[in-house]
Amino acid sequence: LRTPGGTVRARAVGIATGAYTAGGLTPLLRGRLMPILSNSIVTRPLTAAELDATGFRTKLVLTDTRTLRHYYRLLPDNRLQIGSRSAITGADAGHPRHLQVLIDGMHRKFPVLHGIEIDYSWWGWVDVSHDMMPRIFRAEPQGNLFYALGYGGNGVSYSAQAGRRMAQMIGGKDFIGQDLPIFTSALPTHAFAPFRRIGQRMLYRWYHARDEAA
Ligand SMILES: Cc1cc2nc3c(=O)[nH]c(=O)nc-3n(C[C@H](O)[C@H](O)[C@H](O)COP(=O)(O)OP(=O)(O)OC[C@H]3O[C@@H](n4cnc5c(N)ncnc54)[C@H](O)[C@@H]3O)c2cc1C
Repeated sequence: LRTPGGTVRARAVGIATGAYTAGGLTPLLRGRLMPILSNSIVTRPLTAAELDATGFRTKLVLTDTRTLRHYYRLLPDNRLQIGSRSAITGADAGHPRHLQVLIDGMHRKFPVLHGIEIDYSWWGWVDVSHDMMPRIFRAEPQGNLFYALGYGGNGVSYSAQAGRRMAQMIGGKDFIGQDLPIFTSALPTHAFAPFRRIGQRMLYRWYHARDEAA
């Protein structure tokens, strides 16, 4: 492995770099991940009256059923965190209109929170595979390059399980379910990979229109 700090020799390599996998890391992964942006905001802590008016009864995670869904929850200190898809490119991700999309979405769900201060906002990439299925895979049949990738924005708990399975595969240990396609097939590529941001833009418009009509 050639790194900026030196060369590392290893018997096996496991790649678990999520959506931040560099395009040139290995040709075996070229065009196989479609990083998608997730934007999030967090309000100031809600007052007792606001809590009552919003009707929150749980601190468990919640989601609506839109395709471009909002995912949200009440944090331990009673702040509301809400996230969704909005920006397409990293260069555009910090644009105020994406913050506004989330704020508008929050107002529609909780009109009582209209005008509430937003204390935090951020965005980041999630590693989506072209068939929405993650893979924990030996990238070359006889080689020692493995990867665990493609969690589609659901990797917080799943990545721990995937890391364990990848370690078992690297260590040559068998486990039940090893014949499932997530362990036996590569992340698929996409014929239109170079043009996918154009397609994503059109899809987002369509999803938005369909979500609004439903
Ligand atoms: C805004 C946002 C909201 C999300 N919300 C949720 C959620 O609500 N629920 C959920 O389940 N998941 C969520 N996710 C997805 C979840 O965070 C990821 O699926 C998960 O963190 C992936 O874990 P990982 O260990 O595979 O990769 P990561 O946690 O992304 O770690 C990859 C690491 O690899 C490092 N790296 C990259 N390239 C190299 C290199 N060449 N050499 C060495 N190191 C490298 C990176 O610096 C990073 O530390 C969200 C992600 C984002 C961005």
